[in-house]
Amino acid sequence: MNYISTRGAIAPIGFKDAVMMGLATDGGLLLPETIPALGRNTLESWQSLSYQDLAFNVISLFADDIPAQDLKDLIDRSYATFSHPEITPVVEKDGVYILELFHGPTLAFKDVALQLLGNLFEYLLKERGEKMNIVGATSGDTGSAAIYGVRGKDKINIFILHPHGKTSPVQALQMTTVLDPNVHNIAARGTFDDCQNIVKSLFSDLPFKEKYSLGAVNSINWARVLAQVVYYFYAYFRVAALFGQEVVFSVPTGNFGDIFAGYVAKRMGLPIRRLILATNENNILSRFINGGDYSLGDVVATVSPSMDIQLASNFERYVYYLFGENPARVREAFAALPTKGRIDFTEAEMEKVRDEFLSRSVNEDETIATIAAFHRETGYILDPHTAVGVKAALELVQDGTPAVCLATAHPAKFAEAVVRAVGFEPSRPTSLEGIEALPSRCDVLDADRDAIKAFIEKKAL
Ligand SMILES: *Cc1c(COP(=O)(O)O)cnc(C)c1O
Repeated sequence: MNYISTRGAIAPIGFKDAVMMGLATDGGLLLPETIPALGRNTLESWQSLSYQDLAFNVISLFADDIPAQDLKDLIDRSYATFSHPEITPVVEKDGVYILELFHGPTLAFKDVALQLLGNLFEYLLKERGEKMNIVGATSGDTGSAAIYGVRGKDKINIFILHPHGKTSPVQALQMTTVLDPNVHNIAARGTFDDCQNIVKSLFSDLPFKEKYSLGAVNSINWARVLAQVVYYFYAYFRVAALFGQEVVFSVPTGNFGDIFAGYVAKRMGLPIRRLILATNENNILSRFINGGDYSLGDVVATVSPSMDIQLASNFERYVYYLFGENPARVREAFAALPTKGRIDFTEAEMEKVRDEFLSRSVNEDETIATIAAFHRETGYILDPHTAVGVKAALELVQDGTPAVCLATAHPAKFAEAVVRAVGFEPSRPTSLEGIEALPSRCDVLDADRDAIKAFIEKKAL
């Protein structure tokens, strides 16, 4: 399987090189040259596979340059750190299916991808005799998941930028209490978008990227999207009463990474009627789906901070397909975006979008009310991100199609919002017990590209 760029200006590369490249060197995002379409027989034969076996079947289609036994080992080691035997179990509450993606070491869905990516990096660096300096931006959950993915690993240093004071206290502690010498936390005085723009700009600084062998962990890395495709299959097989029945997935969305994985699963032939794109007040993607309006606004802080994003970096991958796999048009649209502030779509394109997606923006009061009502009716506590998706699904799916809501974080990570909704703290899983009392390490810097570049140069491998 070869990989190409959404902007069309790189020669095709294999999976291993795509993982190491992160952002395409032409500024675009890497995608497989073709997405395999699976027949009904193949899909039916996957129905009762364990999570790990299913992951092997899905991932090996896209990663055919890693020997089968090595890939199996990588997958098994990656999911051995999860605390639930099913890895991503589905629970049913009052007719709503909750796909629990938070049983990994940092209690959010990003562990599913980053445990695998950390092991893949280690494997590939060893094979190549190389080193890597990972640089990433986080609105909260990516950072800790990435840090846990690579802490203590040989030949890897990790630099994680987070917006100072804009993550939940537990999110910050999960990052800053990891004291392995290869882990560097940078709290930047700015927004998540500032952090992400600095990271993007460092990656497009090619001499710097080469000299320090920069590696990406944010959701622009294709391996992350790929790892996430697996749980759409896993959940479908738990929920569909018979094969071929259509389901809907509701996905709380920030960077369009998780929902793009669902889109890939749909293109592979999984019977997904529609994907529900749920946003908080940072609703550029909802405005796009509901009215064709993709114009940048300002970032607002919300109770679901991991979705406080305007520039959704994975959106370009979807636009590539929406534009009929025409890289010249993608290049033009995204090159003009920073100055123009918007991308325009044709009516025919918007019709296609509406056939594939539904969307709802859920505000803070609705999020808190949803956590409260769901708890009252089912006894189950939703985290605020998951609640955004549940609220959207309850409103938009009324025809009896089974709705699977992705539970992207454990409620204990966002205790403040939960307390506002139900009046008490959700019980903490063992990994969070006493975290406030642990020693921590973090550098606070201005959200200034050159200052951050200098800091990285000082500490890099
Ligand atoms: C990252 C994150 C999201 C958003 O996922 P994207 O892939 O950026 O769309 C939603 N919920 C939680 C808890 C997250 O950590």
